[in-house]
Amino acid sequence: MIADADAITAGVSIGALQVQSLLDPLDNRVLLCHALALSRVGLITQSERVLDDDEAQRFAALVRRRIAGEPVAYIVGRREFFGLPFEVDGAVLIPRPDTELLVELTLERLPPQGRVLDMGTGSGAIAVALAHTRRDADVTALDVSPEALAVAKRNAANNGARVDFLHSDWYAALEAGGVARFDVIASNPPYIASGDRHLSEGDLRFEPVEALTDHADGLSALRTIVAGAPPHLRPQGWLLMEHGYDQSAAVRALLADAGYAEVQSWCDLAGIERVSGGRLAR
Ligand code: GLN
Repeated sequence: MIADADAITAGVSIGALQVQSLLDPLDNRVLLCHALALSRVGLITQSERVLDDDEAQRFAALVRRRIAGEPVAYIVGRREFFGLPFEVDGAVLIPRPDTELLVELTLERLPPQGRVLDMGTGSGAIAVALAHTRRDADVTALDVSPEALAVAKRNAANNGARVDFLHSDWYAALEAGGVARFDVIASNPPYIASGDRHLSEGDLRFEPVEALTDHADGLSALRTIVAGAPPHLRPQGWLLMEHGYDQSAAVRALLADAGYAEVQSWCDLAGIERVSGGRLAR
């Protein structure tokens, strides 16, 4: 068998399955690189390489997991976000490209030497991207899951990002007011309503349910964040939150009712209002 990603699956027997038609070519290539411990370039330069039995077995095992629905990011333990590599496992959500919008909006609003808080950091993607881009910033990230925090800490260390991590159920472990206030609070909280069919489809079946749903109407974590932010924001400080495709009006209403100023939403790569935010009015 040769190490050509597109040709190879035809030669790997996995029961009676036609692997070639089930796996997308990119997944195929990523899994083959992982099985052979090769980079993308390495795979291209070795496209004539013949796989030994062990290698073919290793690759076949990865393909089987993918066919069973497991996300490629969990199989290879890695996903890129904001141009940086992140370790991921079943304790954390896989970072989505759409969430880069939240990072960009936060960067635009973070003053020099500013303080920023990432609530529900998961893999640390948002906090690490911020700290890596803005070395002057003072970045704090919290999560209620110790397992997620362990992953996030490794991601900060591996990317040379300075982030203060805090084990906290939303604002519980934060000291309110004084010098501890933030210029920006950013969050990608669980926002899928309980019973939403997406929870039992695709990649989401393998992701930590606590990071996806609030087990309620999808807005309860967003409500908690909106209600609790003011004592932790500096005057004119921003609160920015990612939310579901159909939640922008509801989140703007939460912000407006709580007295935030400049309440607005921003669109993701697909043109869907995906982040909403507002500014402390004093
Ligand atoms: N963006 C994820 C999805 O809908 C959900 C992430 C979240 O709940 N914060 O696939």
